[in-house]
Amino acid sequence: MQDCIFCKIVSREIPAKIAYEDDQVIAFHDIDPKAPIHLLVIPKRHITTLNDLEEGDAALVGRLQVTAAKLARELGFAEQGYRVVMNCNEDGGQTVWHIHMHVLAGRQLTWPPG
Ligand code: IMP
Repeated sequence: MQDCIFCKIVSREIPAKIAYEDDQVIAFHDIDPKAPIHLLVIPKRHITTLNDLEEGDAALVGRLQVTAAKLARELGFAEQGYRVVMNCNEDGGQTVWHIHMHVLAGRQLTWPPG
């Protein structure tokens, strides 16, 4: 999508510190990390919000989670623990309109989130 910042990361129009990539998914470090490790795992295909997901997207969404788990093992924070979060629309705290899974690690995370 033309004005989507995450689509521009996928197409390399803007730089990012990429941690993982395959044909459907890309993961990169958040530009404004909320924890010592803060990754974003996104589908390469533009999907605006979680509300836009359809039956046929089930495997793609699962792939986001599997990618997060793979990165947790590879980057060494799987055992200590981490959190995955997907925000949806204004009340959910979404600010970038291309779905993304936050992967937060490296400190004790509090619950409930704000
Ligand atoms: P949201 O608030 O759940 O939509 O999360 C959007 C995330 O994208 C925030 O944590 C931002 O810091 C992050 N972000 C925004 N622009 C960029 C960028 O250009 N590169 C990497 N992360 C970004």
